[in-house]
Amino acid sequence: AIMPTLLSGIANGARQGILFKNGAQLELIGRVRAIAFDKTGTLTMGKPQVVEVIAMPKAETQLLQVAAALESLSEHPIGESIFQYARQQRVEWKQATNVQAHAGQGITGEIGQKQALVGKAAFVRERVNGWSDWLIASAQQLEEAGKTVVWVAYAGEPLGAIAVADTVRPEAKNAIARLKQLGIQEIVMLTGDNERTARSIAREIGIDQVYSELLPEHKVDVVRSLQRRYQTVAMVGDGINDAPALAQASVGIAMGTAGSDVALDTADIVLMADRLERLVTAIRLGRRSERVVK
Ligand code: ADP
Ligand code: MG
Repeated sequence: AIMPTLLSGIANGARQGILFKNGAQLELIGRVRAIAFDKTGTLTMGKPQVVEVIAMPKAETQLLQVAAALESLSEHPIGESIFQYARQQRVEWKQATNVQAHAGQGITGEIGQKQALVGKAAFVRERVNGWSDWLIASAQQLEEAGKTVVWVAYAGEPLGAIAVADTVRPEAKNAIARLKQLGIQEIVMLTGDNERTARSIAREIGIDQVYSELLPEHKVDVVRSLQRRYQTVAMVGDGINDAPALAQASVGIAMGTAGSDVALDTADIVLMADRLERLVTAIRLGRRSERVVK
């Protein structure tokens, strides 16, 4: 009786936008006790928009020129949003040279022989002195409101910061509440973003556990430590960054539309329309198939 049950479970999933790559995964997901979620692109839409520019005195134009010069070559969603904003503001920017993306940190390059830096606080603020207190305080407020703040410096001088906002998926909060009702014991958020921003978004969604400022290999470590405590652990993600953690998880789950090719290839289950509440359906189908098989 195993085959028909598994097949009908898989077919049922397919009708509801859940792609199981094989039957073993259907049973495993029924046994999941902890779930790790990537933030950007998974719990949020992953399409950041610039919401505020906070510049040092008289530095606003130069700040956008420097950011545009580097981010014009960026493939990071934050970089793309900054470049798009600079173009809308009709900022005139020069071509930068030696532009380098630093995964999970930011981007660097040279403009007129001088070094330009754009990226997270730990990456930019610690290399350049002279940031004013009000700028740091404003950035902190923006982060507490869930915005991601990116810092800009040029030629050893601070220029300011750009705040971007990403939209939480409308069904995220409800999906998390229902997963808790199903008895999932631990739900965590994993992100390369900073602590304050991550906590603000987690609070909005109803997630209590947050691991921030993570590099991809750190996401794997968190999944592994969850497995020690809960055995069967699911990881839900969309990015190339998430692939190692998706592979490590007992069940790797990728977002079908937002997901990068690597994430889709690595995952065991794909949520076809990026609908997080389908996770609840998937767990129910898994539990049902297990009951019948036994
Ligand atoms: P996430 O896990 O949220 O997808 P990443 O690991 O890609 O984040 O990046 C972490 C942080 O590094 C970002 O929140 C941002 O502050 C900074 N960062 C990375 N790339 C860039 C870039 N091209 N421009 C500005 N900031 C960047
Ligand atoms: Mg992501």
